[in-house]
Amino acid sequence: MNNWIDVTVPVRTGMPYWPGDPEFVIKRLLEQSKGDMCTLSHISLSVHTGTHMDAPLHFLPDGATMETLSLEAVIGPARVIPIRDRKAIHRSELLEHDIQRGERILFRTVNSDGLWASDSFFEDFVYIAHDGAEYLAEVGIRTVGVDYLSVGGFREDGVETHQALLRAGIWIVEGLDLGKIEPGAYEMVCLPLRLMDAEGSPARAVLRKV
Ligand SMILES: [Zn+2]
Repeated sequence: MNNWIDVTVPVRTGMPYWPGDPEFVIKRLLEQSKGDMCTLSHISLSVHTGTHMDAPLHFLPDGATMETLSLEAVIGPARVIPIRDRKAIHRSELLEHDIQRGERILFRTVNSDGLWASDSFFEDFVYIAHDGAEYLAEVGIRTVGVDYLSVGGFREDGVETHQALLRAGIWIVEGLDLGKIEPGAYEMVCLPLRLMDAEGSPARAVLRKV
């Protein structure tokens, strides 16, 4: 049996986060080394910390919230597609991959070649261009995953790309680390928290070659 590969970004103090979002903080409230009866921590974070999912509400005012996620969207076959473009994922490159309705598609870009090692947010990450997002919506894939903090760009196509995907009912996984992943067919398990009424949630994502 093939081994599961963890494609989740470690959640840690100092990890990169979207400019303007709250940063991840973990505080020890109780510590056995200080005489407390147990160790207990408090965390504060954005629901878009590290590897996480976006629910439709994130960019659609009447959109569905995280607890409506169907487990079918995040458990099952997934395809990792390599992206050559070092700026954005466009329809033209996607057309080469014969993407089918209902697929779970993860994009492995140059983002996974080192961005996660840095504590600073990198503005020029590879994102899904609006035309690429519209193509994925037309095809009607089930789930899309990207290897940095947003499906849309920092300067452009942020709103447009999110809306095109979410309106089409596509569930979004952001912040995957695909550094150890070769393109191809995998089995995916990606489980966000069962957060009620939230527009996103941190998630744990693992892949296994099939
Ligand atoms: Zn997000």
